[in-house]
Amino acid sequence: MAKHVAQLTSARIVSCLSGQGSRVLLSSFRRHNTTGPSPTPSPKPRRIAAFTLTVFAGLTAAYFFWPDRHRGAPTIAHQPLSPTYFTPLTVIASEPCGPSLKLLTLHVPLECLPSTDDPTFPLPIWSIYVKDDDIQVERPYTPLEGIDADGNIKLWVKKYQHGEVGRWLHTKKPEDQIEVRGPLITLPTHGKDWEEVVLISGGTGFSPFYQLLHHSLLQDLSPDKQTRYTLIHCSRTQDELPPSQYLQPLLEYAERYPERLRLHLFVDDFPEKPRYDLKRGKIGTQEIQDCIGLPPGGRQSWLRLPWSPQGDFRRDGKILVAVCGPEPMIAAVAGPYGRNYSQGSVGGALAQLGFKLEEIYKL
Ligand SMILES: Cc1cc2nc3c(=O)[nH]c(=O)nc-3n(C[C@H](O)[C@H](O)[C@H](O)COP(=O)(O)OP(=O)(O)OC[C@H]3O[C@@H](n4cnc5c(N)ncnc54)[C@H](O)[C@@H]3O)c2cc1C
Repeated sequence: MAKHVAQLTSARIVSCLSGQGSRVLLSSFRRHNTTGPSPTPSPKPRRIAAFTLTVFAGLTAAYFFWPDRHRGAPTIAHQPLSPTYFTPLTVIASEPCGPSLKLLTLHVPLECLPSTDDPTFPLPIWSIYVKDDDIQVERPYTPLEGIDADGNIKLWVKKYQHGEVGRWLHTKKPEDQIEVRGPLITLPTHGKDWEEVVLISGGTGFSPFYQLLHHSLLQDLSPDKQTRYTLIHCSRTQDELPPSQYLQPLLEYAERYPERLRLHLFVDDFPEKPRYDLKRGKIGTQEIQDCIGLPPGGRQSWLRLPWSPQGDFRRDGKILVAVCGPEPMIAAVAGPYGRNYSQGSVGGALAQLGFKLEEIYKL
C-alpha cells in the first residue's frame, strides 16, 4: 500500500543531493581558504565556483520544470483512459462510511471507457493514480468493482491525519472533477491457475482483493473455477470494516460456496453484539494457521500422524499469499518491503509458517 512513496524517492534524492551539493561547495570554499590568504586572488577558482553554481542551479531547475513521466503527464479529455495521461472524471457521489472513510463514485464518460474488445485493458487487480491538483502529487487507489455497467468507478478512501491525497479526496463533492490515470496493473492474476489464494488485508487494503473476488467469484468471470480463496481481513473497529454493500455479498458467497471462499474478519475490539461474526485481535501466525487450515507446525510440518489435526490447506499445490495494508501490518505478516518498495525477503508470520518468497506478494 505504500509503494507510491518510491515516487517521492527521486524528490528526496534531489533534496539530499542539494544538501550534499551545498556541503561540497562549502567544503571546497573552506579548503580554498585554508590554502592561506592571497593578496591578488586568481579569478580561476571564482569562475569554477560560478560554473559549478550555474550547473547546479540548472539541474535543480530542470528537475522542477522538466516534465517527468508522472508529474508532467498531460491531461487529455474525451479519450479512453490511459496510464500515460490524466483523464478528468466527475465526482457523482461522496458518502461517509465510517470514521475517516468515504465511498467516492467517479463517472467515466462514454468516450473515455476502454473499448470492450480492447485486449490491453487489464483484468484484476488494477488501480488508478489520482492526482491531487493542489500540490501536484498522485497516489494509487483501487476501484472496488473496476468500471461498472453504468461507467462508474467506486473508491473506498481513507483519510489519514497528515495524509495529502486522502484528505484532499475527502473534500470533493458531486460535480467536482478529479484527474486520474490508469489502469495500472497491481497484481496480474489472469491465467495463473492457483489452487489456493490467501488474501490478507488491513483497512482499505481490502479494495484490491475485493476487485479480484468480485470479478472471479461474484461475477464468475474467471476461467479458473478450481481456485479456492481465503480472505483474512482486519480493521481497527467494527465501524471501520468495509462498507456492508461489499462485505455482505462476500459473506453470503462464503456461506454458500465454502469450497470456493472462506472469509475471516478481525477487529481489535468489538461490542457485545457485533454486526458480523468477528474475531478479536490482530492477524498473526496462529490466526493465519487456523484460518487457512494448516496443521500445527505450519506448511513444512512433517508431523502428519493419523491422529493429529491435518487441516485442509493444499500445501503442495500452486499457492499465492497476497498481503495489502499499512506497512506495519505487511511487515508483521510477510516481512518488510525491500529497497524502493521491492518485495524484500519473507519474514513475519508467513516465514514462521514456512511460506516461500515466490508464493508471497506484498501489494
Ligand atoms: C496498489 C495500491 C492501491 C491502493 N488503494 C487504496 C484504496 O483503494 N483506498 C485507500 O484509501 N488507499 C489506497 N492505497 C493507499 C493510497 O495510495 C495512499 O498511500 C494512502 O491513501 C495515503 O496517502 P495520502 O496522500 O493520503 O497520505 P500520505 O501523504 O502519503 O501520508 C501521510 C501520513 O499518513 C501515513 N500513512 C500513509 N499511508 C498509510 C497507511 N496505509 N497506513 C497508515 N498510515 C499511513 C504516513 O506514514 C504519513 O505519516 C493504495 C495503495 C496502493 C499501493
